[in-house]
Amino acid sequence: MPKHGAVVGDVEIVSLSDGHLEFETGSFFPNVPAEAWSDYRNGLTPEGRILMNVGSFVVRSDEQTVLIDTGLGTGDHGLEHSSSGKLIKDIASVGITTGEIDLVVLTHLHLDHIGWNLIRDDDVYRPTFSNAKYYVPKADWDLFTSPAGLRRFTTIKHQVAPLEPLGIMEFIEGRQQITETLSAWPTPGHTPGHTSFLVSSAGENAVILGDAAHVPAQAHHVEWSPAPDRDPALSHASRRELFDWAERENAVVASGHFPKPGFGRFELADGRRVWRPM
Ligand SMILES: [Zn+2]
Repeated sequence: MPKHGAVVGDVEIVSLSDGHLEFETGSFFPNVPAEAWSDYRNGLTPEGRILMNVGSFVVRSDEQTVLIDTGLGTGDHGLEHSSSGKLIKDIASVGITTGEIDLVVLTHLHLDHIGWNLIRDDDVYRPTFSNAKYYVPKADWDLFTSPAGLRRFTTIKHQVAPLEPLGIMEFIEGRQQITETLSAWPTPGHTPGHTSFLVSSAGENAVILGDAAHVPAQAHHVEWSPAPDRDPALSHASRRELFDWAERENAVVASGHFPKPGFGRFELADGRRVWRPM
């Protein structure tokens, strides 16, 4: 097993990264007072900024190889203090080819989760993962590919909209089974269609958070909803429900934005829920 992996029953989950992002605490979490970060310095850069991995996960069983989220991709995203474009190399480094990916599953349609969906040659698009079906949350599709959505989120035009004419897209709507061991758990709020994913195999569970949380401090502070959350109250409710479940089940938790490789568990310590990296 690659070193950045976790085993859940008969399923292997591998952590991959496309790069990183950095944000000022006060701009990413405008409602969190600066002093509240004093307990959570280890998730920050020496300058006190939030250091965010841009993570993806491969979920691999005997039957299928699934890639969850596709990073920022290549090109300039206009994001300060960021790096990107490493995902394909990272996949190769764990011995998986892009052609082996059977399904690409997207937690939501923000630009740091869709960047490697498609390759564009002149104006012809082809899937980066040439044999894959792409699963897209329906409520996000409706929002982001609306005329207003396409104007505001330019990446959608190149990385999401062409999936439909290519005939390689399926929608995710509500709780549904994606493969025998992978199922969708809607966690709306960050975006309307935001979806986390459960991996269940041989009595063991894992959850892939997506952007249900961005920093480990939210294990305790489930009420911290960041600026990009479209509906902060709903994202808070989704986060609380998911985290309560993961803590109760002692599930493996996989986060693409927590420090690499992003595997851990939620545990109680002195009456607070804490993030215990694996
Ligand atoms: Zn994100």
